Amino acid sequence: MPTKHDNNWLFSSKGEKRGYIQPNLLDELWFHTGTSCNLRCPFCLEDSKPGDDRIEFLTLADAKTYIDEAVELGVNKFSFTGGEPFVNPHFISILDYALSYKPCQVLTNATAPLMNQFAKVKPLIDKPNSLNFRVSLDYPDPQKHDAARGEGNFAKALETLGQLYRAGFGVSIARKMLAEEDSIAADKAYAPYFLAAGVPLDITIIKFPELHKPKATPEVPEITENCMTTYLTAAQREAFMCNNSKMIVKQNGDCAVYACTLTDDDSDYNLGRTLKAAMSERVMLRHHRCYSCFAFGASCSE
Ligand code: SF4
Repeated sequence: MPTKHDNNWLFSSKGEKRGYIQPNLLDELWFHTGTSCNLRCPFCLEDSKPGDDRIEFLTLADAKTYIDEAVELGVNKFSFTGGEPFVNPHFISILDYALSYKPCQVLTNATAPLMNQFAKVKPLIDKPNSLNFRVSLDYPDPQKHDAARGEGNFAKALETLGQLYRAGFGVSIARKMLAEEDSIAADKAYAPYFLAAGVPLDITIIKFPELHKPKATPEVPEITENCMTTYLTAAQREAFMCNNSKMIVKQNGDCAVYACTLTDDDSDYNLGRTLKAAMSERVMLRHHRCYSCFAFGASCSE
């Protein structure tokens, strides 16, 4: 059940009304497949690592309940993140079920867990809906990528990106956004790697600012109601993930609906057990990651 909120939920430390999002329509439903990962990256915003169970493996039965409810609510897309989704032993059957209903997207490090199961992934091309893989390539520089992800993992991810594309799947990449970067130049620097992998030079590149580890408490400006209307347009407010998506998270044996993909470390963002109830809950922008959405338009969606 959602936590009973205190005043700190509704008001800033200066007593001003906090900014909020009143969710609109459920366009995209995310599933957290579990925080277990084959890699141990020091910057991971989920603090995922081998054997980690802060967020438990989602099962097919768990996923079916929410896929069915989301379809009834008119969802347009399912997305999956971890951890590394392909470490979850139930994941391919979950994906197979979800693809029977709507297009899907998977965020993956595209290393051994996916490569080793490629023969089981390939037939998913014949499902009635499309499947896109977003592969993490943190920097257009194998050495920098491998410094955090482990020797040889840039090359493995690039190889898998090409294999997925040749098998007919959609592909995109996720990279790190550096402070005061030249974003166009940073994107262009991937061109030689895309050429080597045989993927189009114009595939989507999603950029993420520093989001910090779970339970981190970085100092960021607080977002008030006034900020939301003074500095953002209605279209910008509508683009917040918590407006049109939700995420399913399994902890202590139970699934819950969280406000978005970025707040699973704070039980105040647990909006209950059903999507219908969660979509009626106003989301207060108190989490430090809400500032990334406000200032940089951070979003996991494509
Ligand atoms: S982190 Fe972003 S998407 Fe999530 S609740 Fe905050 S503003 Fe909304």
